[in-house]
Amino acid sequence: MFEHDALDIEQRASTGALPPRSRVAELVAEADERYAGLDDGEVADYIPVLAAADARRFGLTVAGVDGSLHEAGDVGIAFSIQSISKAFVFALVCDELGHEAVHERVGVNNTGLAFNSLIAMELNGGSPMNPMVNAGAIATTALVPAASSEERWVWVRHGLSRFAGRELALDEVVYRSEAETNHRNRAIGKLLQSYGRLDSDALEAVDLYTRQCALSVTAHDLAVMGATLADGGVNPMTGEQVVSAEVCRDTLTVLASCGMYERSGEWLFEIGLPAKSGVSGGIVAVSPGKGAVGAYSPRLDAAGNSVRGQRACAHLSRSLGLNLFASVRGGASESEESHV
Ligand code: GLN
Repeated sequence: MFEHDALDIEQRASTGALPPRSRVAELVAEADERYAGLDDGEVADYIPVLAAADARRFGLTVAGVDGSLHEAGDVGIAFSIQSISKAFVFALVCDELGHEAVHERVGVNNTGLAFNSLIAMELNGGSPMNPMVNAGAIATTALVPAASSEERWVWVRHGLSRFAGRELALDEVVYRSEAETNHRNRAIGKLLQSYGRLDSDALEAVDLYTRQCALSVTAHDLAVMGATLADGGVNPMTGEQVVSAEVCRDTLTVLASCGMYERSGEWLFEIGLPAKSGVSGGIVAVSPGKGAVGAYSPRLDAAGNSVRGQRACAHLSRSLGLNLFASVRGGASESEESHV
């Protein structure tokens, strides 16, 4: 849950750009320091290898659409991207197949249930509901357009690497650990197939999904990937147009309603940003037109969201003036007009 911190921060309008760089640097360091001692939550262990994560790790990066980077803590520690991959595979598939096809096939409504729920599908006539739960992510991954399973994997890995601005590698140990134990995801794939929701082989789609979840990233990578969604699809570090601006809009909309699982409403209420979390402890929160926060800390709340990561994002959203729903009388405040 989000306890309210007594932050002496004035509300600022969501418009404009990030505050001056020196101020962002200060606030990132402050957020890191403030929550580094918070030991609530548990490290995920339903994928056996994840239980070995060092619970003390905590890294924070803010990447601006102007190419600026501000970091604190363990920003270079690698972890598997897990569910955060869903956001970027969704963007890549939308870019390829278009808004309508994916909307019709996968849906965009929150389930109100856990990310790996089978009941959500049963209650909704076999609909995977949205691309940020496992059913919808497997249905989205099944749409990856390539001729063979090897080519589909290359397509996904290459696409996520373009978001990160560097070649991402598979963590083989994580992949194997999940592939040996992912009976529930295989059941989800088979259930999708039984409802006629998959054109390709269910277990192959689940395998590709398992691989995409095992791509190795850092908090730094997450911030750059998020900043690409914040910048109309252009990676601010490499200058490459990865997906269209329309796809970024659609992806961020889905993240706002479904990115933090059944906690998405509370998250939006407290933080006011589209975001995605993963069960290894990563969070990416995106501020359209401004930049993104990448956070890593392995202890999770009951919904599977990083405890420190959430608190740090809340702090940064408020102190950097990122909440999308915030306005001030008369438009943007003076402090927002200076930037970078
Ligand atoms: N690979 C994980 C799973 O399917 C991803 C879940 C998550 O990060 N919430 O269970």
